[in-house]
Amino acid sequence: MKAVIYARVSSKDQEKEGYSIPAQKKLLKEYAHKNNFKIVKEFIDVETAKKSGRENFGLMVDFLKNDKTTNIILVEKTDRLYRNFTDYIIIDELYATIHLVKENEILSKKSKSHTKFIHGIKVLMAKNYIDNLSEEASKGMREKAEQGIYPSCAPIGYVNCAKNANGRTLRYLKPDKIKAPLINNLFELYATGNYSLSLVVERGYNEGLRNRNGGKVGKSAIHKILRNPIYYGEFRWNGVIYSGSHTPIITKELFKAVQDIFNAQNKPKQTKRQFAYTGLLVCGQCGCAITAEIKKNKYVYYHCTKFKGTCNSSYIREEILADKLSTLVKRININNKMAELIKNSLAKHHSADIKFHTAKTKGLNIQKTKLENRLRKAYLDKLDGKTDEEFYNNFANNYNDKLNQIKQSLEDIKNNSDYYLKNGLQIIELCNKAYPLYLQQNHFERAQLLRYILSNCSLNDVSLCPIYRKPFDLFAKRLSRTNWLPREDSYLQDKFDL
Ligand SMILES: [Zn+2]
Repeated sequence: MKAVIYARVSSKDQEKEGYSIPAQKKLLKEYAHKNNFKIVKEFIDVETAKKSGRENFGLMVDFLKNDKTTNIILVEKTDRLYRNFTDYIIIDELYATIHLVKENEILSKKSKSHTKFIHGIKVLMAKNYIDNLSEEASKGMREKAEQGIYPSCAPIGYVNCAKNANGRTLRYLKPDKIKAPLINNLFELYATGNYSLSLVVERGYNEGLRNRNGGKVGKSAIHKILRNPIYYGEFRWNGVIYSGSHTPIITKELFKAVQDIFNAQNKPKQTKRQFAYTGLLVCGQCGCAITAEIKKNKYVYYHCTKFKGTCNSSYIREEILADKLSTLVKRININNKMAELIKNSLAKHHSADIKFHTAKTKGLNIQKTKLENRLRKAYLDKLDGKTDEEFYNNFANNYNDKLNQIKQSLEDIKNNSDYYLKNGLQIIELCNKAYPLYLQQNHFERAQLLRYILSNCSLNDVSLCPIYRKPFDLFAKRLSRTNWLPREDSYLQDKFDL
């Protein structure tokens, strides 16, 4: 039997024990040997939080697609193989058998639905884990922003620069010699109130303003420029305004004058009536969007736009539609008992992670106590006159820094250790509460919930054909099976006594 092995490590994993590529490879090779698999190829990805591409994952997929004689993937754990649901779907389409060696699980097209279901949950958590990693990366960017450093690619009119300061690379923005004066001109032009955006675009082009690709800077780009506070010295990052350390191109007064002109133009618009479920549904007959209208000033009806002209589907009242949609939510509903069982099995799966975190926390706490004791002793020595003030201050600063680092690490562990599990639990919670919640909500809230669990849904006259998002599809599939199972209790016992 021929097999491939896949191993992956991210920058954050590398700090942890047992996550290294050699460790993964060793485990997989031993497993292959024991099971008489012949390893025909190895695919290894080393990732960083910034570089998200996974070249070898893609190569592996290509390899398995082309080589019909190999259809076994050996991988350490779920979160090594997938980072998100796209990966999950790609692998799912391969018709390969996956051996999750550490989790002692083998998945194939023939797997039982409950195995797939738990697997889906784990994939979901692997994804959230990655989200958490990129959050870590953006934390670093936020720190930069707080120091006044724009943490991204320079906007037009500026260039990214770097200089060496005390052995550290310092990045900063510098006004572009040619483009900065042009940007200033655009602001001055628009501030007069006599130029439309289109005219400003033309002027910019005539004066030589070009985008990164050498093309014309268009209307929406100019609008963005004229709205961007970075040119007078502040910048927006993740919705927060920071005061930048870069050289401004325009004055704050000029910026304000331009904003006043924009604001004066934004007259309140006639608000168009919004319908809750439009955008959620497509016509099952012709594939056009489902739209809505009001009849007799109070009844909302949904129907196909019939843009293709071939459709003869009928109208449906909003109340009736909402009622039908409720059955889609009901399908993912799980009762309290089942929720409890799944929660327990999730907790079991992650007890290993928790063990690791507990050991680390213990170690850090020992270090913390040690440092605190030394600090206390040094303080007493100072009181007794055994050490002088300056010596003590140096000592205390140094130790306090170390102590703060430890406290930060402890805090990180506390926040991260149950992050993984918490997200899985939230999904379970949602499935447990979704249906009763739906019944209490208004149409707009209901539509929001539906958008969360459905990726698509077609309406054929009065019947609905939903496509669930992952992992809700697993819930929906699994629950439709319970209908013909004899007793719920025996079903639970059978499926979830892991
Ligand atoms: Zn239609």
